[in-house]
Amino acid sequence: MTGIDLSGKVALVTGASRGIGAVVAARLAEAGARVGVNYHASSDAATVVVDSIKKAGGEAFLVGGDVSQEDKAEAVIKNLVEHFGGIDILINNAGINKDQLLIRMKPEDFDNVMNVNLRGAFLCTRYAMTHLIRQRSGRVINMSSVVGLSGNPGQANYAAAKAGLVGLTKAVAREVASRNVTVNALAPGYITTAMVDELSEETQAKILERIPMGRFGTPEDVAEAVVFLCSDGASYITGQVLTIDGGMIA
Ligand code: NAP
Repeated sequence: MTGIDLSGKVALVTGASRGIGAVVAARLAEAGARVGVNYHASSDAATVVVDSIKKAGGEAFLVGGDVSQEDKAEAVIKNLVEHFGGIDILINNAGINKDQLLIRMKPEDFDNVMNVNLRGAFLCTRYAMTHLIRQRSGRVINMSSVVGLSGNPGQANYAAAKAGLVGLTKAVAREVASRNVTVNALAPGYITTAMVDELSEETQAKILERIPMGRFGTPEDVAEAVVFLCSDGASYITGQVLTIDGGMIA
């Protein structure tokens, strides 16, 4: 997408050490935003993301921390605001999956997936929102999934967390709309990252049959939607869930 200028804006992308988050961070920086690159464990990979943004002429800041822990999430926002002087855009992208059929799913795997995908988004939004409300402008984008809309066998925890993000998005959108802060969710289908790579070839072939466009999505497909929702042109769009799935659940 061309012509979108986010210069002067500060963005935080959680879970930006690889996959969708890394590409979203790079794309926001390319559009002119100063970008916080968050990670939990993969500091080397996240450093590579920061370095490559800087090499391309952008501004990026490494801001580690497990978003599912309250003190860490609060510190991530605080460190970013101290470094760049504020925050305008929050992309709640950090996510994990621990797939298993319900009757075999360990309660701790349910809790971990809920904590990173849903609680992490709640906590980051909670601590960023004070700034966004005060300045009467801001963007929050939550990375849900088509699985949160349609369900998927073996992903009761992940689907519940991603459906929870839809509720979080709509409730918070209503709360902060009068302050000129928009809150939306993206629901990607199958995007070519580690999450899809780890599926067997047979499973991948079966999934492709269900995608009218006949291909998996790319992180760039998701990043373009993020940049649009962060733009001035999207200022009247809030509380929405945008599916990016090649027509899979159309
Ligand atoms: P990925 O390649 O597995 O990357 C996940 C990112 O989240 C990594 O940067 C990881 O960093 C970070 N992360 C994990 N736990 C964290 C925590 N507690 N605190 C902070 N960061 C944490 O995933 P992806 O495929 O790019 O997916 C990104 C988002 O899109 C996820 O929310 C996912 O559910 C969603 N999504 C993906 C697809 C898909 O097909 N790929 C489809 C729909 C939705 P560390 O390694 O440092 O922990």
